[in-house]
Order: sequence, then structure tokens, then C-alpha cells
Amino acid sequence: MGSRHVFSRGGGDRVRIDHGEGAVLVDVEGRRYLDAAGGAVVVGVGHGVDEVVQAAAAQASRVAYVHGSAFSSEVLEEYADALAPLLPLEDPRIYPVSGGSEAVESALKMVRAYHLARGEDRDVVIGRRGSYHGNSRGALSVSGRAGLRAPYLPWLTGAEHTTTPYEYRCAFPDTHPHGCGVRHAEALEETIERVGPGRVAAFVAEPVAGAGLGACVPPDDYWPAVTEVCRRHGVLVVADEVMTGFGRTGRWFASEHFGLRPDVLTAGKGTASGYWPLGLAVVSGPVHEVLARAGFVHGFTYSHHVVGAATGLAVLRILQRDGLVEASARQGARLHDALHRHLARVPGIGDVRGRGLLQAVELVADEGTRAPHPRAQRLVERVTEACREQGVIVYPSTGCADGTNGDLLLLGPPLVVSDDEVDQIAAGAARGIHQVL
Ligand code: PLP
Repeated sequence: MGSRHVFSRGGGDRVRIDHGEGAVLVDVEGRRYLDAAGGAVVVGVGHGVDEVVQAAAAQASRVAYVHGSAFSSEVLEEYADALAPLLPLEDPRIYPVSGGSEAVESALKMVRAYHLARGEDRDVVIGRRGSYHGNSRGALSVSGRAGLRAPYLPWLTGAEHTTTPYEYRCAFPDTHPHGCGVRHAEALEETIERVGPGRVAAFVAEPVAGAGLGACVPPDDYWPAVTEVCRRHGVLVVADEVMTGFGRTGRWFASEHFGLRPDVLTAGKGTASGYWPLGLAVVSGPVHEVLARAGFVHGFTYSHHVVGAATGLAVLRILQRDGLVEASARQGARLHDALHRHLARVPGIGDVRGRGLLQAVELVADEGTRAPHPRAQRLVERVTEACREQGVIVYPSTGCADGTNGDLLLLGPPLVVSDDEVDQIAAGAARGIHQVL
């Protein structure tokens, strides 16, 4: 029996994990699971990597904490210098925090402070419908997941939402698949004009949509068209790479797939591969210059954490040394093909999509009409459990939970996943899905 004093989501008895190795988790009974969820699409370098643990321990034993506003450290500067050339921003300046929501909160303050410093009182950010950017108030404001937002609506202010590229259910079917990127850009511009052009501070979006709508890759004309609209209206582009960063989609950052050069970037999850809660808010040099001149005041007790920097640096070196970003591209293609093969004869599969080791399966009640299953069926929960019984852990999502999308299974295994493990993940997930559908 578990402790009743842990306030956890879901309730009920949950599997107790004892340890992990590579792409495998082992529970207290010794049962092994393939971690096709990578935790929560977090673990890149794999579970149980002693090299990362030793780097964190060595730093903690030298000094575990210094106040980030008052002191710097060699390890923090080495980390920033190692990471900067890999980031898709001009002359990046890196602000380390404790996770994705904190990174997004920081980015929101940075974009508003940037405009204020230039004499412009821009008070609105634009996100996309169906998106997820975190659970704190600012991050939830810009998120577009109706179900998560509903109870807190009176507190969620300062954000508007526009369309999101979702090829399986394109908002512009008449132009799909050619030219819908431009239509999304037009929708964004209409939103900017409706709000009032001088009021929009930033457009916040994932380059490849992860948790919200499940590994949605936009058409190639999307980001160039959207960026052009933002630049024309003085709106900063914030690329939320909390889920897609650090090799998850087969490039260091998903922005690279589209030649996107954001003004601000957020990261989390894969940054320290789960060995430390490390998020990043990154701004370009020109944005930083304005903020620095204005004296931007911000900070959390655990910002710029030295153990976080040591952990992030160790993870970065492993990703580089072991070619794990390239591995993500390669194994992602293998997983995508294997899923298609194993799911070919399973009913109720709407779509299999993704890039690199960020893949999603959308489940529907009717493949012809693409109608989702009613939420009350709790399908995604039942499928997740059935997959786990088959020895495969998947990451469930109901997306918007408002009937505009089907149930989603996200697959984001550690980037070290082997060929055999990829095949077992696809086969086990297919068996689990088939059992329920
Ligand atoms: N942004 C994106 C794109 C995410 O996927 C998430 C988490 O799933 C967040 C932000 C929030 O990150 P965290 O849960 O670390 O606060």
C-alpha cells in the first residue's frame, strides 16, 4: 500500500518504480517496462546514467547553492558557453530556472519588459488553441487547452488565442495541404488587429506542437509566414521548446526544421534529462540589450542553480559525444514506420504523426468522420493501462478535451532507445490499443 500522505494526481494504487536503466524502468516487484514516455517526454540520455549523477554530486559537494543574483560560477559560465552555439537565436543569453512553467513565466515577463523599456505598453500575448505551456497562471493564460483553463478563467488574463496547424483536422480544409501555413498567418494577423496592433507583445508557440495536440508538425510555409506577420507588427516570437528541445525531434531544437530564429526560447524537460529540474528562458542579444539597459528585475531562489548547470552540462556533453540528436532522427523514423506497420490492422487509429522521437497516435471512434470517443469512456486512460500491462509506458493526453480532437498517446522514449526496443514499443503499444478498441 502506498502512503496516503502523498498528494498525487489520479489516486488509486500506482506502480512503484524502483530504478531505471537506459530506456527501461523496473518496478519494486522486478517487472520491466519500456519507458516509451521518457517519463513525461523528459529523459533524453536514458535512465541510470552514472556520469550525470557524478557530475551533479561533484558540484554539490564543492558548493550546492549560491544565490544566482549575487554570484556567478565557472560551471554556469561553462554551461552557457557550451549551449549558446547550439541555440537557434542570435547571440543568445540564457536564464536558467527550475522547469518549463517557470521558463514560460519568465519569458512572458521578459517580452512585456522589453516593450515597456522601448516605450510601448504592450499587454497581450497570443497563444494557440489546443496548446500547452504550463500550469502556473501566466503559462496557463497563454495555453489554449480549454479543459485545463476552465476552472481558473477569472484569473487567466492578458492572452488571446489563434489557430494552430493540425494537419489531421486542418482549420482551412479548402487550402490543405498547400497554402494553409499562410492562412494560419492571416488568422494570426486578424487576431493582432482585433486586439489592437500596438498591444500585442509576443506570439508564443511550440515549433512542433507537443503535449496539447500531440506531435503536430506544421506545414513548411507556416513558420516563415507567421514570423513575417510578427516582425511587421513588432511582435516578438517566443518558441516554446520545453518539450521539443535538446534533440527530441531529431534536431537540437525543433525551430531548426523550419529555419525559425525566435527572439525568445523556452526549454525544460530534456535540458537536464530529468536528473535535475532545469528550465531555461533564453533571449536574443538584441532583446537582452534592451532588457539590460532597462534594468530588468526578475529571479527565483533557484534560478541559475549551480548543480542544475553541472547537470545540464553533463547531459549536453553526452548528447554531443554519443550523437543522440542524430539518433533521435534515426530512431524516430524507425518508430514512426513500426507504429504504422503494427497499427495497420488495429481499428480506431485516426493518425500517426510526429518528428524524431516525438510521435503521437490519435484514437478516434470513426475513422471516416474522425469523430473522437466521448470523454466519459475514459479511453485514453484505459489504453494507457493496457499498454503498461504489455510492458510499454505511453504518455496519454486528451488534448483539448472539448471534442475537437481524439484521444492522444504520445511516445517520447529516451534518445538512447535501441532498434529492438523501438520495435517492442510499437508492437506492445499496438497490442495494448487493440485490447481496448
Ligand atoms: N511548455 C511546454 C511545451 C510543455 O510541454 C510543458 C510541459 O509539459 C510546459 C511548458 C510546462 O513545463 P513544466 O511542467 O516543467 O512546468
